[in-house]
Amino acid sequence: MVEGSVLKTSKGLEVVVFRPTLLDRVMEMPRGAQIIYPKDLGSIIVHSDIGPGIKVLEAGVGSGALSMMLIRAGAIVYGYELREDFAQRAEENVKRAFGESVNWQVALHDIYEGIDLSGLDRILLDLPEPWHVVEHAERALIPGGILLSYLPSMDQVIHLRRVLEGSLFGLVSTYEVLQRGWHIEDRSVRPDHRMVAHTGFITTARLLAAPCGKFRSWSISPPR
Ligand code: SAH
Repeated sequence: MVEGSVLKTSKGLEVVVFRPTLLDRVMEMPRGAQIIYPKDLGSIIVHSDIGPGIKVLEAGVGSGALSMMLIRAGAIVYGYELREDFAQRAEENVKRAFGESVNWQVALHDIYEGIDLSGLDRILLDLPEPWHVVEHAERALIPGGILLSYLPSMDQVIHLRRVLEGSLFGLVSTYEVLQRGWHIEDRSVRPDHRMVAHTGFITTARLLAAPCGKFRSWSISPPR
C-alpha cells in the first residue's frame, strides 16, 4: 500500500492512509500524566539545543512525550519519574515507538532529593517545584550546560527565577509559545476562531563556570 492512497471502508467511507508521524503517535498514545503540547515540544528541543549525543536528564517523565522527541533528536536520555505507574506507561509508549532495544531508561527517583548523574549537558524539568532542583543541577551539569523548566503558572516561574538569581546559573530567559492556526477556504482567509492560548511558560538558564553577579538575564535582540 502506497502512503497517501485513498481506500474505501466496508461501510463505503473514503479514507486516505498515511504512516503516523511521531507527533501523531504522541497525540494518540495512552497517557498517565498530561503531556507537553506539540508547540512547546518543538521549542524545547531548539531552546535546550538538543542533538545527537547530547546527554539529557529529564524529570518527570510522565507519559513520555518529551522523552520520545528527545530520543528522535538523537539525545542520550536519562529519565527520572516519581510514580511507578507513569514510568511503566512511558516505557510502553517509548518502546512501542522505537522498539524494545531503544537506549533509554527511566529510574524511579524523586529529583528533589538529588541527582545521581554527573557530566550532563542538559536538564529538562516538567514538574511543579523545579526550584528544589537548582542546587542539584549546579553539580550535575557541565559548565555551559542548559537547565530548562516548563511551568503552567507565573507564580511558579517567579519562584524559580528568584532561586536562579542566587545560583550559579546565568542567561536566564522566560518565554511562552503562541501558535494560531488559520482557516483558508475560498475567499474566507482568517485566523481560526479558537486556539490553545495557554499551556506553559518555558524558562532556560545556563550554568556559569564561577559565581558572577553579571550575565543574569538574556534576550534575543529583534532583527534590524
Ligand atoms: N513531560 C512529560 C509529562 C510530565 S507530567 C510528557 O511530555 O509526557 C509531570 C510528571 O512529573 C508526573 O509524572 C509526576 O509524577 C512527575 N514528578 C513530579 N514531581 C517529581 C519529582 N520530584 N521527581 C520526579 N518526577 C516527578
